[in-house]
Amino acid sequence: MMNGSTNNTATDTPWTSSSADRMAGMDHAEVRYFTSYDHHGIHEEMLKDEVRTKSYRDAIYQNRHIFKDKVVLDVGCGTGILSMFAVKAGARHVIGVDMSSIIEKARQIVAVNGMSSKITLLQGKMEEVILPFSKVDIIVSEWMGYFLLYESMLDTVLYARDQYLAPGGKIFPDKATIYLAAIEDGEYKEDKIGFWDNVYGFNYSPMKEVALTEPLVDTVEMKALVTDPYPVLTLDLYTVTPADLAFKAPFSLTCKRSDFIHAIIAWFDISFTACHKQINFSTGPHAKYTHWKQTVFYLRDVLTVEGDEIVTGHLENKPNERNKRDLDIRISYAFDASDVARHAEGRCAYKMC
Ligand code: SAH
Repeated sequence: MMNGSTNNTATDTPWTSSSADRMAGMDHAEVRYFTSYDHHGIHEEMLKDEVRTKSYRDAIYQNRHIFKDKVVLDVGCGTGILSMFAVKAGARHVIGVDMSSIIEKARQIVAVNGMSSKITLLQGKMEEVILPFSKVDIIVSEWMGYFLLYESMLDTVLYARDQYLAPGGKIFPDKATIYLAAIEDGEYKEDKIGFWDNVYGFNYSPMKEVALTEPLVDTVEMKALVTDPYPVLTLDLYTVTPADLAFKAPFSLTCKRSDFIHAIIAWFDISFTACHKQINFSTGPHAKYTHWKQTVFYLRDVLTVEGDEIVTGHLENKPNERNKRDLDIRISYAFDASDVARHAEGRCAYKMC
């Protein structure tokens, strides 16, 4: 999933009247979310993300024995790519559901690939459409947002699971893990945070506040990592509930060298454990680029650390009360340095919107 809604407004979208009818009664944030997927560019970027798309393709093609003669539900089918993978892997029938008008393109794509009799495409919210099957054998979905959960449609996948997945049915993918690590960022003082202290001689601290409360989605170089990664949360898609997505989880970051810590970064790994030979991909700084990049949380204080010292803390996340697609994230940390002068503790609040 791409999560481009922050760059698009409902007004710049060429709605078809049927889309407009379907959107009637939806709140503004929801309309903005779904219309962002009307544009072809967002789908192009997802399809061109080879780590993402090839992982799904491999997970499906390498498991024909699982897909053969099965009924598959593609939650948020977009241009229909996962539905077509499933047909090629031998599925008896695939149902693709998407609220966005991109589904009109999916319909054409499926037709020109000769798969119209195998794939039923339904435009509407997953939570509202009526499926032609009461149960499905397999759910495939690409639901992951920045920081895994931003603008998350995971709730939608869990709804589909609870409503439609047959007992013993499979979910592709079915495991997601969020990792944290701390980084040194040479640009913290001059460019990222310190920049706002003196902008052509003016105090721009209100802008600094933004930089310290909004996480930055950016690529981080491996060499910036000061600590080992820490797996802070693992979601098992067979058992996780929407309530579990508001969480407070402890972390412990072991420093690898003497350095400064300016930020904590997060990324996620994805696994398809149902596969005969498990398929995984990572969106971490050590792995090949993906459109999810990494998420950077700048700290208000700079920590001065030495090798083997440990920064402990908690990561808290909950959907924002007014707009459930936004996230309220808190990172608290405590650092018991060997030298009292370097002790530090802090609590930073972020909003991802
Ligand atoms: N499966 C496609 C698209 C992934 S993007 C691919 O892998 O390329 C996620 C898609 O899910 C978007 O097109 C979005 O419109 C759709 N979506 C998100 N929440 C939905 C919901 N509740 N009901 C229907 N579609 C939804």
